[in-house]
Amino acid sequence: MLVVMKNDATEAEIQAIIREIEALGYQGIPMPGAQRTAVCIVGNEGPVDDSRLLTLDGVKETIRVTKPYKLVSRETHPESTIIVVGDVKIGGSKPVIMAGPCAVESEEQTLTIARLVKKYGALILRGGAFKPRTSPYSFQGLGEEGLKILERVREETGLLIVTEATDHTNINIVEKYADIIQIGARNMQNYSLLRRAGNVSKPILLKRGFAATIDELLMSAEYIMSEGNTQVILCERGIRTFSDNTRNTLDLSAIPSIKEVSHLPIVVDPSHAAGLREYVIPLSKGAIAVGADGLLVEVHHDPLHALSDGRQSLYPEQFQELMEEIKHLK
Ligand code: PEP
Ligand code: MN
Repeated sequence: MLVVMKNDATEAEIQAIIREIEALGYQGIPMPGAQRTAVCIVGNEGPVDDSRLLTLDGVKETIRVTKPYKLVSRETHPESTIIVVGDVKIGGSKPVIMAGPCAVESEEQTLTIARLVKKYGALILRGGAFKPRTSPYSFQGLGEEGLKILERVREETGLLIVTEATDHTNINIVEKYADIIQIGARNMQNYSLLRRAGNVSKPILLKRGFAATIDELLMSAEYIMSEGNTQVILCERGIRTFSDNTRNTLDLSAIPSIKEVSHLPIVVDPSHAAGLREYVIPLSKGAIAVGADGLLVEVHHDPLHALSDGRQSLYPEQFQELMEEIKHLK
């Protein structure tokens, strides 16, 4: 249930509502909006008796939230959320492009790619220091050394950094260096990691698991938000289907469908969806056309020698072409 406050409700009145909700045995989470604040009740199994709440000062009305993901739902927060990182706005009118290598391999490699993607218009640099690999024998990332490289590259280029935390042992160190913390597809239902992500000070980019429904993705986002971190960016990166001509199948219908039920921004990763660089530009155009708030794209200056995901990494000139092609789409 949502307790909608009057436009002129005071902070003291909002706090009184939260105390009353707690006295009923639930939790009250304030959801400030452009026009008014609402307090979302979470932790109830069945319907909440709102008779006392409605008598308290500052309360306009109560609204039943029908979705199981309360904080993520557009019923709770009708305006689309814009996540502000540095001077970049994710979820606003302009799609935000995050680009870079799959993995941080060396300072020279990361800086070379960062300079190129910046030149062509990316605002955020992607690159994993901790890599979740299908094989234990594959390159696992440079760890903290990789994070230090990203920090130096940020200083040098001014690009913001999105990089992955793969488990509860590295999320706090990633938090120290990253501007946005990525939680990967394999970890979308790692609930202890999601709870930790709810307690960090940085926005979270939460990727959809490759066998996860949209409701499951939204419930995972709810885990993060229920711990207090409201800065969640969703990411569609392809799901596993019977179609085996690409690495995954990009579910573009997820974009309008999520936008209908949730206020959170959603970006698309065409690289992991396709697995092949030649499909990344058309999929990116499709993603922007259906309303994605941004792209997460793999780019490498020497993909033939990349330590991971070279086959799906764009050459810098292709990234330049991608940026040209999407310029007029939104
Ligand atoms: C990545 O972004 O490099 C990655 C490992 O992605 P995903 O979790 O979507 O497979
Ligand atoms: Mn990758």
